[in-house]
Amino acid sequence: MNILVCISNVPDTTSKIEFTSDSTSFLTNGVQFIINPYDEFGLTKAIKLREQHGGKVTVVNFGESTSEPTLRKALAIGADEAIRIDGAPTDSFLVAKELSKVISENNFDLIILGRESIDYNGGAVPAMIAELLDLPFVNACTGLTIEGTEAKMEREIEGGKEFVSSSLPLVIGGQKGLVEESDLLIPNMRGIMTARTKPLAVVECSSSSGKSSSVSFEKPAAKQACKMVEAGQEKELVTLLHKEAKVI
Ligand SMILES: Cc1cc2nc3c(=O)[nH]c(=O)nc-3n(C[C@H](O)[C@H](O)[C@H](O)COP(=O)(O)OP(=O)(O)OC[C@H]3O[C@@H](n4cnc5c(N)ncnc54)[C@H](O)[C@@H]3O)c2cc1C
Repeated sequence: MNILVCISNVPDTTSKIEFTSDSTSFLTNGVQFIINPYDEFGLTKAIKLREQHGGKVTVVNFGESTSEPTLRKALAIGADEAIRIDGAPTDSFLVAKELSKVISENNFDLIILGRESIDYNGGAVPAMIAELLDLPFVNACTGLTIEGTEAKMEREIEGGKEFVSSSLPLVIGGQKGLVEESDLLIPNMRGIMTARTKPLAVVECSSSSGKSSSVSFEKPAAKQACKMVEAGQEKELVTLLHKEAKVI
């Protein structure tokens, strides 16, 4: 079974997010980058499927050379080979187009993405790939089994679960539940050593352009200082809740 896992290189969730002084770009200086958490579930699932059915797990990222440590980590976790499409991922459509090109040039049975990336939260790339390649697409998968050329999936829906089936090849958007957090594979020393010699191919991006561009960014307002109200000052408390906090 030939599986592709698309890996988004995102800032660590604990990173302090800063923008340039004109608020038009995100400052990456000093920011630690990680595998998008939704993609980590997909990667572990792909490795488990390979253990069951044989085959190969390829990971791909569309990004600059700074995303290579993230791809090497995916190799250390257990992917067989990696592809980096060299370029700046400036919009979801561009990312989907570049990934689709790699997918169309290879015979993948299963294309696993995360349901969204935790940086720009577009939640757009998986569906765009399915549309560009005319493939079936199931999003927000919380379970996946493969039987022959058929995939059986589980999705969480309001108030219950949905069970879906589709033929392969197939694009899925995955999340927690594909595997549990406690089952996530982490690199061990042997994995880290072998990752150094696993193939990481760099391919040129096809220089297509995106369809949207970021104009500016704004951070949430800083948290205001906590105001203490003396015991017995209920009237003042009610006034503050009404006029300042505007919650009553
Ligand atoms: C309007 C807009 C403007 C942007 N402008 C800039 C910019 O100026 N500069 C800049 O650096 N970035 C920019 N980005 C972010 C960058 O384009 C995103 O990486 C890209 O849009 C995909 O993000 P998404 O949130 O739509 O992905 P989602 O659809 O939320 O991601 C879902 C899944 O798709 C896969 N995926 C997503 N991105 C990649 C990738 N690069 N490689 C491999 N797999 C991937 C992963 O499996 C991920 O879990 C912009 C994004 C948007 C939406």
